[in-house]
Amino acid sequence: MSLPIYLIGARGCGKTTVGHALALASGYAFCDTDHALQQSSGQTVADIVAQEGWAGFRLRETASLKAVTAPTTVIATGGGMVLAEENRQFMREHGRVIYLNADAEILAARLEAYPQAEQRPTLTGRPVSEEMVEVLAARDALYRAAAHHIIDAMQSPDAVVSQIMSVLSPARAS
Ligand code: ADP
Ligand code: MG
Repeated sequence: MSLPIYLIGARGCGKTTVGHALALASGYAFCDTDHALQQSSGQTVADIVAQEGWAGFRLRETASLKAVTAPTTVIATGGGMVLAEENRQFMREHGRVIYLNADAEILAARLEAYPQAEQRPTLTGRPVSEEMVEVLAARDALYRAAAHHIIDAMQSPDAVVSQIMSVLSPARAS
């Protein structure tokens, strides 16, 4: 199978970490929509949000999704990629969509350990743990609606990668 693999889920679920490892294991290329957007605009996500607001960022995000879509590529998407119906439909039609699912407490703990604030402006300015509960409550249904497969992302990165590979090619799983 050579369709692009889209990784979706909230900030901290492991899209970048697992995406890199999955690309290595499968021989696919790796792309990150936030990173691609930064390369093409020369600005960080935080800069874009500060200058154009989240609405401006969302428009650029959709363009970035389309730009990086290619066969044999693992695509880590921004946490809010699923908010637009257009993006959900595009991913489902063009590839296989994997939701990396993790509890809010786990996500918050990961983000607090490595805040990378520049890349991850908080959506509300409140503590990460509070915000994560709300973000997941609002988005979990959208992640599920967009996904072809839902994977438990609270396992080790290697275990997450193996599970993705086995759901994508069940015949070859050992
Ligand atoms: P995302 O790209 O979805 O925002 P990252 O891949 O950047 O998430 O991961 C966020 C943080 O959580 C990083 O510090 C990363 O090392 C850690 N992390 C990611 N996946 C796992 C995992 N399966 N188990 C433990 N820590 C993880
Ligand atoms: Mg990432």
